[in-house]
Amino acid sequence: MISRENPARFEEIVGSVAESSPIEVDAIVWAADADFRRWSATPIEERLGLLTAAAEAIEDALGELSVLLARETGKVLGDCRGEIGFAVRYLRWVVAQATAAYADEVVDDELGLLIKQHKPYGVVAAITPWNAPVILSMLKIAPALAAGNAVVVKPSPLAPLTLDRIVRLVGGPLRIVHGGPAAGAALVGHELVRKVAFTGGAAGGRAVAALAGDRLTPSVLELGGNDPAVFLDDAPFDDPAMDRLVMATFATSGQVCMAAKRLYVPERRLGDFVDAYRAAAARVLVTGDPLADGVTMGPVISAAAQEAARSLRRGTVHDLGLFDADDKTGYFVRPALVVAPQPDDPLVAAEQFAPVVPVLGYEDEGKLLAACNESELGLGASVWSADEERAVAFARRFQAGFCFVNTHNRTGMSLRAPFGGVKRSGWGREYAAEGLAEYVQTCVIHAPAAYRPGAPPPAGGPSAYPV
Ligand code: NAD
Repeated sequence: MISRENPARFEEIVGSVAESSPIEVDAIVWAADADFRRWSATPIEERLGLLTAAAEAIEDALGELSVLLARETGKVLGDCRGEIGFAVRYLRWVVAQATAAYADEVVDDELGLLIKQHKPYGVVAAITPWNAPVILSMLKIAPALAAGNAVVVKPSPLAPLTLDRIVRLVGGPLRIVHGGPAAGAALVGHELVRKVAFTGGAAGGRAVAALAGDRLTPSVLELGGNDPAVFLDDAPFDDPAMDRLVMATFATSGQVCMAAKRLYVPERRLGDFVDAYRAAAARVLVTGDPLADGVTMGPVISAAAQEAARSLRRGTVHDLGLFDADDKTGYFVRPALVVAPQPDDPLVAAEQFAPVVPVLGYEDEGKLLAACNESELGLGASVWSADEERAVAFARRFQAGFCFVNTHNRTGMSLRAPFGGVKRSGWGREYAAEGLAEYVQTCVIHAPAAYRPGAPPPAGGPSAYPV
C-alpha cells in the first residue's frame, strides 16, 4: 500500500493506493492489449467523444480535484487549479486537432496511389513525475488515446491520488498502475508495450531508455532542466519583470522542470540586482499552507527533498519573502538567493529542484553563453533586455528547447504555437502538433499504376527500384 502524506502537515495522511506487483502490472498490460484491439477499431469520432466527456467530467470536479492535488503535492491551490484547467484545455485541443492530424494523406497521380496512414502503436506506457502529475500525464494520455492506442499510466508514488481519480473519470482504454521504479520497470519492459513516454529526471530516464532500448521499443523522454536566466547589460530591474522572475523560480517551491534555476547578471550590476530581487520577493513570495489565501509557495515534496534543499544554502545566502510556515511539521524550506557561488557548486552545475537559486556575475557574453550551454539538459532558457531585437538575437544562440524573452516559462507553451521544442537531452516531443505525432507510426501503402517486376522505373519515379 502506498500512503501519501500532506507535505504541508506530514502527520496528515491524504489517501492511499494499492501498490502494483510485477504480476499485477503484467495482468494490466495484457488487459490493455485487449483494450487496444477494440479501441483501435473504434471510429475516431467515438474515441474523441470519450475525450470530450473526460474533459467535462474533470472540469466538473475541478474544485475537489484541485484541493486533493494541493494536499498530496504541497503545491498552492491556484497552481493546482491552473494545472488541472490546462489538462482540460489540452484534452479539448487534442479533440479539435486529432481528426486532421491522424487522417490518411493520399497522393493519387499518374504514377499510382500512395496512402500514408497514421496508425496507433498498441499499448503505450506513460511514466510521470510528481511535480505536475495531471498535465504531464494528460500530455501523453490524450493524444495516445485519440490516435487509437491503449494507455497504462504509472504516476510517481509521491503523487498518485489525483491522477488515480482522473483515470477513473476518463475510463475507456486507460489503466493505471502504482509504485516506484520496480513497477515502472515491469511496465516499460513488458513485451506488449509498444511505446514508452517518460517524464522525469535523468537517472530514471536513463534506466527507462535502457529497458526500452533493449526491447527496441520507441520512447519519448522528457527530462529535467537547469535553465539559465540571463540579464543583458541594458535589462531594467523593474518591478513587473522582477516579480515574474521570482515566481519563475519559486513556483511549486522551485520544483518545476523549466524554472529559472541559475541567474546571470553583469558583474557591475550584481548588487543592484540582489536588492531588486529581494524587493520583488518581498512583494510576491509568501511561503505557507498551500490551501491558504495569499500563499504563493508551499513546502517541498518530501523529507529527502527538504534535506537536499537545506544542503544547498551555503555561502552568501539571502532569505526571501514572507515565511509563514513550520518546518518541523511540514517539509517547508525558506526560499533563498545565493550570491556568487562557484560555477562548480552543485547549486549551479546541476538541477537543484528546490527553492534555492544562485545568482552569478559575468563580464564576457561569450563565456557566459558557453556556461549556459554547457548543461547536458538544455530544456529552457531566458534572456532579459530593454531591446527586444537584441534579446531575440541572443536567444538564437542558446542551446535549449524553449527560449523566452523578458519572461521565463510563462509563454511559448501556448497551444497556439505549432511546435514543441526539442531538448538537448531527451528524445521526442510533447505539446502541440509534434506531440500528437509521437503516438502514431506512419505506414505507407504503395499502389503503383503499372507495376511490372523487372520493368524500368517510370519517368520521375527512380524510387521504383526495390531497395
Ligand atoms: P523521477 O525520474 O525520479 O521519476 C519520474 C517517474 O519515473 C516516476 O513515476 C518514477 O517512479 C519513475 N521511475 C524512476 N526511476 C525509474 C526506473 N528506474 N524505472 C522505471 N521507472 C522509474 O523524477 P521525479 O523526481 O518524479 O520528477 C522530477 C524530475 O522530472 C526533475 O528532473 C524534473 O526536471 C523532471 N521533469 C521534467 C519535465 C519535462 O517536461 N521535461 C516536467 C516535469 C518534471
